[in-house]
Amino acid sequence: MNNCIFCKIINREIPAYIIYEDDDVLAFLDIEPISKGHTLIIPKKHYQNLTETSDELIMKMGVINKKIALNILNKLKPQGLNYLINQEAIAGQVIFHYHQHIIPKYDAKNGLTINQNIINNDSYNLETIKKEICIK
Ligand code: AMP
Ligand code: ZN
Repeated sequence: MNNCIFCKIINREIPAYIIYEDDDVLAFLDIEPISKGHTLIIPKKHYQNLTETSDELIMKMGVINKKIALNILNKLKPQGLNYLINQEAIAGQVIFHYHQHIIPKYDAKNGLTINQNIINNDSYNLETIKKEICIK
């Protein structure tokens, strides 16, 4: 894919701190980490986001996610991890080559901090939504 930064990393056109590689998947350190060991896992084939990525790759990346997470837990000893996937600009996606973040959490103040508001339940009928998105 032309002009995709992550494809350029895969093709070794720009450098990265690669921590895992196989025929289909690459993982490297985020260049602007929000905690020590902040890692990105990407498929080598260019897909824009999770919902465009093949089922086979999604499953393979899930297993590699676990392998890398265990290694970070063992070596860097964070108290926890956040797994993050952003899809579309409104949700914070900046690079449009599918990637999963692993963000170690060492204490409450660093790493991923989520500022969320519970939406008003009057205008949010859970039963109606359940019917709309239930997969049978
Ligand atoms: P997202 O907001 O989910 O699209 O995340 C994109 C991530 O890619 C950000 O956390 C960036 O810091 C990271 N990033 C951008 N360019 C590079 C690069 N050349 N090497 C490593 N990470 C990068
Ligand atoms: Zn790409």
